[in-house]
Amino acid sequence: MATNLKMNVKPVPTLDDEVNEIRLATAEIVNKEILPNEGKLWGWMSDGSSTTPKEVIEEAKSLRRDIQDKVKKARLWAPHLPQEFGGMGLSFMQHAYMNEVLSYSPGAASLFGVVAPNSGNQKILVKYGTPEQHEKWLKPLTEGRMQSAFSMTEPHNPGSDPTAITTRAVLEGDEWVINGHKWFTSNGHAADFYVVMCRTADPKDPTGKNEKMTQIIVPKGAPGLKIVRGVPVWGRASSHCEIIYDNVRVPKENQLGRTGTGHQAAQDRLGAGRVYHCMNSIGSMWRAFDLMIERLMTRKVHGDEKLEDKQFMQGFVADSYMDIQSARLMTIHCAEKMEAGADPRVDISSIKVYVPAAYHRVVDRAIQVWGAAGVSGDLPLAGMYQGARTLRLADGPDEVHKILIAKLVLRRYHAGESWDFGN
Ligand SMILES: Cc1cc2nc3c(=O)[nH]c(=O)nc-3n(C[C@H](O)[C@H](O)[C@H](O)COP(=O)(O)OP(=O)(O)OC[C@H]3O[C@@H](n4cnc5c(N)ncnc54)[C@H](O)[C@@H]3O)c2cc1C
Repeated sequence: MATNLKMNVKPVPTLDDEVNEIRLATAEIVNKEILPNEGKLWGWMSDGSSTTPKEVIEEAKSLRRDIQDKVKKARLWAPHLPQEFGGMGLSFMQHAYMNEVLSYSPGAASLFGVVAPNSGNQKILVKYGTPEQHEKWLKPLTEGRMQSAFSMTEPHNPGSDPTAITTRAVLEGDEWVINGHKWFTSNGHAADFYVVMCRTADPKDPTGKNEKMTQIIVPKGAPGLKIVRGVPVWGRASSHCEIIYDNVRVPKENQLGRTGTGHQAAQDRLGAGRVYHCMNSIGSMWRAFDLMIERLMTRKVHGDEKLEDKQFMQGFVADSYMDIQSARLMTIHCAEKMEAGADPRVDISSIKVYVPAAYHRVVDRAIQVWGAAGVSGDLPLAGMYQGARTLRLADGPDEVHKILIAKLVLRRYHAGESWDFGN
């Protein structure tokens, strides 16, 4: 269903010229190259056929390649990576401010070289990888010659408590021997390697009380690695895989960082990642808001009145505006705190809970305004709705973050200090 909207991005007076230029250049690609092709870019079928014809898939691939070339030419490729690894070398804040623009169109991040879980693995490899690991895994991953997955969550243990992981790696000579059962390992079918979170013994603690986690790279096809299935998600086949690691042996040098640093590496991945994800959600909310208003201004109901004249609908506009603005300012406040080196834990958990919930509400209203079209495949709203709901579970479910917020706030009051909302 064609809509006429473009993303309206103007220079922000409080940002420096460089970020403003990046945002304008990103918006130009989104508006000129991506939005007009949205219906074709992902090879979707809109006529109810069960299989997608080959030529539709090929056209989608070629369109994506064209846009990726234009992105590279405009020097907007891989905002999450340093320049020496083929990225833009952006600062944390610059990257955050670019994300809300590039995520206006669902899936557009991949056209800018940011594809989860590869992007998270790339960042961990940049930080923890040895020069040999950079050469063997990171380089092909950044050049698009390899795919990867992150294998942490387990079906029989709560993912919200990372200390509960039971997948174990034991050092035998020069090899790690891995045994465990994982699921929701995204991109599992295509991955050439898996970063696996394993429980490892601390040689200095024979009691095993202080066992920590280590992330270990397991290549595709390693004997003992068995993909059980892609777990269906939202009623569709998926590449979020259930995987058994049965006596999988990999060389010792496949471990990432020092033994026992797996949790820290996961935190590194999630901390800044949560700000980026929230800015992505804000870009998507921005789109849902624009779509909602476009429909309010054009749809006539019960005679000759437009939806925009109805007070129920005006309430939707005001509520969604407030949801987006509050989510955005909260995320920017959190990012500024991180940038300044202040303790951002309460703010990170707050945005992780607040932003997906606000996103969910904003998309829900847009769907309501569009009626049946809102849940159809003709608009991106249905996919956004599922994405927003899923975000309330992934990267730590809501309740766990709320518990942390309360604990940290109360701790400060118990220490005789109250909360300073200005900092
Ligand atoms: C689409 C998708 C993609 C994913 N991709 C990956 C991936 O690539 N790699 C990977 O390793 N994992 C992945 N995950 C898994 C995700 O990280 C986990 O689902 C998440 O961490 C929650 O873990 P869980 O599902 O085991 O839920 P649980 O930990 O069992 O939690 C279930 C619910 O219990 C509640 N709860 C938990 N603790 C408390 C408490 N103390 N008090 C009150 N309530 C509580 C929470 O509401 C929570 O929602 C993905 C998940 C999804 C949905």
